Amino acid sequence: MLPFLPLLLLPLPLPPAARLLLLLPALLAALPGRCFPEFHPPPEGEPLHTLVHGVWYDLASFPHPGGPVALRLAKGRDATALFEAHHHLLPAPAAARILAPYRCCERLQGELEAAEGGGHYEWGGFAEDEFVKGVRSMLRAHFGAEARRRGVSISDAMKATPRRRLLVLLLSLSFLLSLPALLGGRWWALLATPQLAWLCVANYWHDALHFALDGDWRVNALAPYLFPWLSSPWMWYHQHVIGHHSHPNVGRRDPDLAHAPQLKREHASVRWRPAHARQGGLGMLLLLFSIAVGGGMQILSDVRCNLGGSYNNAVAYERLGGKRLLMHVLGRAGYVFCVFVWPFLRFGLCTKAALFAVVPVASFSWSFMLASQVNHLTVETAHAQDTNFLKHQIATAQDFGPQSALCNFLSGGLCMQIEHHCFPSVNHCHLRALQPKLEALCKKHGVPYNKVDTWWEAWERHLRHTELMGKRPFEVGHEH
Ligand SMILES: [Zn+2]
Repeated sequence: MLPFLPLLLLPLPLPPAARLLLLLPALLAALPGRCFPEFHPPPEGEPLHTLVHGVWYDLASFPHPGGPVALRLAKGRDATALFEAHHHLLPAPAAARILAPYRCCERLQGELEAAEGGGHYEWGGFAEDEFVKGVRSMLRAHFGAEARRRGVSISDAMKATPRRRLLVLLLSLSFLLSLPALLGGRWWALLATPQLAWLCVANYWHDALHFALDGDWRVNALAPYLFPWLSSPWMWYHQHVIGHHSHPNVGRRDPDLAHAPQLKREHASVRWRPAHARQGGLGMLLLLFSIAVGGGMQILSDVRCNLGGSYNNAVAYERLGGKRLLMHVLGRAGYVFCVFVWPFLRFGLCTKAALFAVVPVASFSWSFMLASQVNHLTVETAHAQDTNFLKHQIATAQDFGPQSALCNFLSGGLCMQIEHHCFPSVNHCHLRALQPKLEALCKKHGVPYNKVDTWWEAWERHLRHTELMGKRPFEVGHEH
């Protein structure tokens, strides 16, 4: 416990550099130890069962390039969708050959049960589908050329370019340099610091947790802990990487459809309530967008998940225990302290303290919501479905201004949502080059491709959808 004792001094009014020093012993003690078991292979003798294409494997000793954490996301589940989303360049026969030595015995094939069923997709003939083959050969040709040009491996060519890394570094430094001003109560920092935090997080955090920042899994796994302003990384893996990306816009499978079902109805699978009649109003949007990150994802969803063992009743959540749970609770307590408590310790009980406790987190939350809610929740995409995994990813997503440098920068590449859903382990700095190629393939194969030129149009579509879903189901013709 000794390295964790300095954390008790954090509430003291110390300069930021001293606070970082107080955190250091805990970080050094935690990282190599068992405080983060997902960064380590399972202990000797403990299996890691996962179901892929109807076959159970024990991957406890499998040296996965995504590191132990990539395998932990698949533990106990039907991970077929996760597997296919991240292995576009691995031909099916090669994948079968690699996995064969880890196949569970026939007795276990009959006994094991997935915590979370597959369902929804038809996998028979998926790899032979002409569209899927076309997309995969386009991807192989694109990154084959990129790898040759840069003199790197094909998998490294898919990660952040040196230019992207420099941008992330500059954004991180700008944020850190603005932090003393926020802590010192300078008014300009009230909005500038959280916006720099958003730009920093948007341009690397999401990629890292999709294994798309770097070729070394340790960078992808550890970098998100530097700026965890969106959610705890462990929670994000469950909500976003496993739940949302495996089953976007599938009722009771995509956790993003049920963040606040009492206040907002995003999908026909959510029961209509009278409160939903107000969801298109400015007041309700202001409230929800303001509390979505700081109150919802960082605290309420987190607590519900750890107590109930499921993320929004959509994704089976692997509960934490022992030292890992302690680290998680310390992380949450640290977030609450840094965001909501310090202003009152620094400025006393006054209006300024209240503003510094509320505005930065609400402003960050707004940026996240403005860049993310328009990507799937539109009339055109919210209830689109396909049993082909890749076509489903495309039908349920919307691009906005995909070739706009500004949309790209401000949204951290979320404006190319279709390409991101097709290739989540590709760093978003490559998506602009892939976008016209994918759009052309969709056109050739008759796959609907939802694209608008500006964020405003995307926003209008989202508002139309929000208003429609707020009406009584019989008024819009949806069963529930
Ligand atoms: Zn994503």
